[in-house]
Amino acid sequence: MITIDPSHISTSLDAAYATASALTGGKNADYIPYLAGVPSGLFGLAVVTPDGQVHERGDARYEFAIESISKVLTLAAAIEEVGPEQLRAKIGAEPTGMPFNSVMALEMHDDRPLSPLVNAGAMATASLLTAANADERWAKILAMQIRLAGRQIRLSDEVNTSEQTTNFHNRAIAWLLYSGGNMFCDPMEACDVYTRQCSTLVTAVDLATIGATLANGGINPVTRERVLKADNVPPILAEMMMEGLYDTSGDWAFQVGLPAKSGVGGGLVAVAPGRLAIAGFAPPLDPVGNSVKAQAGVAAVAKALGLNLFRSA
Ligand code: GLN
Repeated sequence: MITIDPSHISTSLDAAYATASALTGGKNADYIPYLAGVPSGLFGLAVVTPDGQVHERGDARYEFAIESISKVLTLAAAIEEVGPEQLRAKIGAEPTGMPFNSVMALEMHDDRPLSPLVNAGAMATASLLTAANADERWAKILAMQIRLAGRQIRLSDEVNTSEQTTNFHNRAIAWLLYSGGNMFCDPMEACDVYTRQCSTLVTAVDLATIGATLANGGINPVTRERVLKADNVPPILAEMMMEGLYDTSGDWAFQVGLPAKSGVGGGLVAVAPGRLAIAGFAPPLDPVGNSVKAQAGVAAVAKALGLNLFRSA
């Protein structure tokens, strides 16, 4: 672990928060009705370090829908259960270069999802967990969210209802996966559970704690619990580097050089292994679905602290 001077983290956060706050671009997601109604002006940033320091600015304790970031946590649950090789063989580790809900990406690859961090791969990953029914499957996923965040994460009935009553596109993807032999439980069960995992409420501080657990080799720095085997962390971060920001994952790697994951609720978390995690939350999204302010804020902190992984020390 490399300790970064807390005052350096603090000044970097102040500067990043000021710069990103001034941005006006983007638009709330509206294909999920709940998300359209979240106040667009909210903006929070948080950093959590492996020794458990929490730094926060702005609306870092506002609870919002985790959405796609949940894919990382379900991936973590599945890797713990089946191991990295099974996960890679059954789901994949390639970027799709396509939108997160692309049917064309499936069509082009024999109905294989390629990545656990797109909707198709996330549903298939949820289906890999051993469970007798939807509630058992859901219990495993929620337990992982709680252990990684180190807090009593809960499902929002309001978000879940908003998603379950509009998720027809995801249901179609689930059936395509099933028809291609790439779904490992009932496809509607996988879609239901995936939709619930997207509908829990988290804060920027929670996201930074989840990220810091990954930065800390699988030990939650706040609860001190070992949540993941150390060997399971690098493959999770590799998946985040390849597909964490959908079809602009390459741009993010080029500009920031850290594994990260975004969600259409406006959240984003980036992980600097051995150092810290940075999270942001602001609802307005760019055209591919990544938060405008959270990307700018997280990138600015990473740059100020010299965290690009591809840089020699
Ligand atoms: N629940 C959302 C969906 O399935 C999550 C997508 C996202 O955050 N990119 O479309």
